[in-house]
Amino acid sequence: MRLILFGPPGVGKGTQAKILSGEFRIVHIASGDILRAAIADGTELGKKAKSFMDRGELVPDEVVIGIISERLKAGDAANGFILDGFPRTLPQAEALDKVFEKAGIKVDRVLSMEVDSEVLLSRLTSRRVCRNCGAIYNLSVDKIEGGKCPKCGGELYQRDDDKEETILRRFEVYLKQTKPVKDYYAGKKLLVEVDGIGEISEVTGRMRKALGKS
Ligand code: AMP
Repeated sequence: MRLILFGPPGVGKGTQAKILSGEFRIVHIASGDILRAAIADGTELGKKAKSFMDRGELVPDEVVIGIISERLKAGDAANGFILDGFPRTLPQAEALDKVFEKAGIKVDRVLSMEVDSEVLLSRLTSRRVCRNCGAIYNLSVDKIEGGKCPKCGGELYQRDDDKEETILRRFEVYLKQTKPVKDYYAGKKLLVEVDGIGEISEVTGRMRKALGKS
């Protein structure tokens, strides 16, 4: 299965992508995770991406398109994949179409997760991520003791771009540059909207249903 997970920042794409990738045994490819890993490793890519990410802006298309096109060529993507956070602009969506065309593959479904912006803001400001295993938590819902990951004991941290001012900029960027991608996939009859409000398992249930897998 080849899926694209679409939606605004904080809608729960990362959380749901991790679950679905396990269930369907398809690789989870998250552009934001790849960029954050590059920053942590101090690579040239990371240095280039950091200033954009810290400001809540998008990393230039040519950079992200290059990374994702390469990533999709890796053997583990041959079985299927779930793209999270890509494409985020129309040029990225068009470039992805070309990559698929060249590889002779098609995307099965684009799941668009929908949540009100007030809920998104509160989710993002209380989001914490495990530095070790990448698990995502919400301080207002999950029981966290001593700032440690309940799964692996790793240190939890707040993403630099999850500060309120940067979040507001990310919302603006989403409306202006990313939302048109939704219409692009709706036009191709690939888009299914999924309500992202509620318990994680409830939302996963809706995702399965949208995929005809419930
Ligand atoms: P995310 O983890 O998906 O919320 O992404 C965090 C940040 O990484 C975004 O705010 C952008 O600065 C950058 N980023 C991730 N994916 C993309 C993309 N497809 N195009 C441009 N920038 C991206």
